[in-house]
Amino acid sequence: MRPLRLRLTPEGGESLPGFLIRQAGRARLRSVSELAAMAGLRQPGSTVSDDDLEPLSTLTKVPVERLEAMAYRAVGKGRHHFPGGVVDRDLIALSPRRACPACLADAPFHRMVWDLAPATACIPHACRLMTACPGCGRLLGWDHPSVTTCPCGQPIADTPITPVTRAEVEAVAALHRLVGSTPIPWLHSTFAECDRSELVKMTLLIGMAATGWTGRCRVVSLVAAGPDATAAVTVAGVDGLRRWPESLSEIGQQGIRPPWVWAGATSTAKSLHQMSRAAGLRPKRTPRAI
Ligand SMILES: [Zn+2]
Ligand SMILES: [Zn+2]
Repeated sequence: MRPLRLRLTPEGGESLPGFLIRQAGRARLRSVSELAAMAGLRQPGSTVSDDDLEPLSTLTKVPVERLEAMAYRAVGKGRHHFPGGVVDRDLIALSPRRACPACLADAPFHRMVWDLAPATACIPHACRLMTACPGCGRLLGWDHPSVTTCPCGQPIADTPITPVTRAEVEAVAALHRLVGSTPIPWLHSTFAECDRSELVKMTLLIGMAATGWTGRCRVVSLVAAGPDATAAVTVAGVDGLRRWPESLSEIGQQGIRPPWVWAGATSTAKSLHQMSRAAGLRPKRTPRAI
């Protein structure tokens, strides 16, 4: 296998499938699948698999360690590397592709931080992440060899931004801190034993309880409800986590029956159930993993 004639260097914070898009464009291929096939990869699935990145390294002359750092490599059952730490698979959202038009206008590459499932906003630009072309309405995908243009020809980076509240920006920033590895000074000691992925899910669960969420307590269900619903739960959840355990008492006083059942392979629901009992709340339903 010979290296591609026209190659690119990855950007800081760029994701593997995003790099494949740019590299396919640079190599003037008609689709990203063409490049993925040459490298024996699936687009964008290889980023969460253990697929061999050596052929892509040969094609692009990017060291394989660098490519691996851009991918969400598996580190155990259902757990993956993510910038700053390790998260459950359901906290990584790849479909549809998300983008901040202002970031793309600054530098046209796909940022890994956009793939955190409950993240609804770009922090530096305080705007919503977009998931569809404003021209044709098509969801953003991974096969067209441009991160800045839709297959219909519409330039994505020109899209006017949709501003979000300061509370949403701060909540999304808090989520990114929760999955990272730096200490969180305001975190209540009750949560000291939780791993970072579990902390994010707890935050969402607290937000669901506080906002009276009636859907299934799953990350995918929340994200599927759209960015407004996701942001409302995230904002309430981060606030509840910051003000724990007062927030728990408030939830109880409002007469909301919290959805203390988290559907997923996690001990989140169990931990939260134990905490709520310790705080004097007696949820009617007992936690179980579905
Ligand atoms: Zn941005
Ligand atoms: Zn379009």
